[in-house]
Amino acid sequence: MPELPDVEAMRRYLLGRGLVGRKFTGAVLDWPKAVKGSSLEDLVLGILHKHVQDVARRAKFLMLRLDDGQSLVFHMRMTGSLLLERSATPRHPMTRNFFPLDDDWYLLFVDPRKLGTVQLVADEALLVGNLGPEPLDESFTPEVLMQRLERRKAPVKALLCDQNVIAGIGNIYADEILFSATVHPLTPGGTLTPKQGELMHAATVEILTQAIDKLEDLVSKGGPPTESAEGLGTLKVPRKANAACTKCGEPIQRIIVRSRGTYFCPKCQT
Ligand SMILES: [Zn+2]
Repeated sequence: MPELPDVEAMRRYLLGRGLVGRKFTGAVLDWPKAVKGSSLEDLVLGILHKHVQDVARRAKFLMLRLDDGQSLVFHMRMTGSLLLERSATPRHPMTRNFFPLDDDWYLLFVDPRKLGTVQLVADEALLVGNLGPEPLDESFTPEVLMQRLERRKAPVKALLCDQNVIAGIGNIYADEILFSATVHPLTPGGTLTPKQGELMHAATVEILTQAIDKLEDLVSKGGPPTESAEGLGTLKVPRKANAACTKCGEPIQRIIVRSRGTYFCPKCQT
C-alpha cells in the first residue's frame, strides 16, 4: 500500500517529468466510482483548460494545485499510482481513468484494485485539515511526537498508523519504526518514555527518508513511480512469522493490532 514515501516519490516523479505548467484538455473516466465529492461532469468541467501550478503532498494525499485555486486531489489507497506519458505510449493496462493534457501528454491514474480516489476541491482543508503533523517537516520533533501520544491508551502501533496522530505512516513502516526503536507494538502510547520517543522520532525520519531516496532512485532508472516497501529491500523486520530476527536471530512474531498484521521481535522489542 502506498505510504508517505511512495506518494512523495510520485510527487517528485511528476515534478521531474514536467507536470507543472501543463493544461488539462479533458478526462476519460472509465472507472467513475473513483470520483468523489462531485458529479463526473463537474469534475471534467472543473479541470478543463486549467493549468497545473504545483504538485503537493500531504500525508498520503497527492494534490495537483490548479491555476484557479482548486485542487485535484488523489488518494492511492491500496494500489494506485500516477504516470505521466506521451499520448502515443501504450497506456498501462491497469489504467482506470486518464486525463489528456496539452502537447500530447496524458496523466494516467493506474489502479489494479480500483480503490483509489480523485476529488476536485476548492479547499484542500476539507480533506487534509485534521491530519496529524508531517513526519519529515522540521517542526516534527521528538517533543511533538510525545505530545501526540500523550495520555493515549491505544497500542503505539495503532497510533502510528492513525493519520490524525501522525500523517503518512502505514502498516509496514510502523513495524519498521517500532523495530528500529526497540519498542513493543502493544505498548500504550501514553506510557512511552522520553528516550523511547527520541528513538521512535529518529527511526521515523531515517526510515522514511531512506525509503524516499530508494524510490526516487528507482524512478530515475526508469522504474515505476511506486513499489511496495517489501520490494525495496530496505525492510529490517521480516514480514513472516517465525523468520529469524535480523538483529538477534529469535523467531519473529505475528500478532493482529486493530485488524492489521503486525510483525515484531519479542526479544528485541520490549
Ligand atoms: Zn530480535
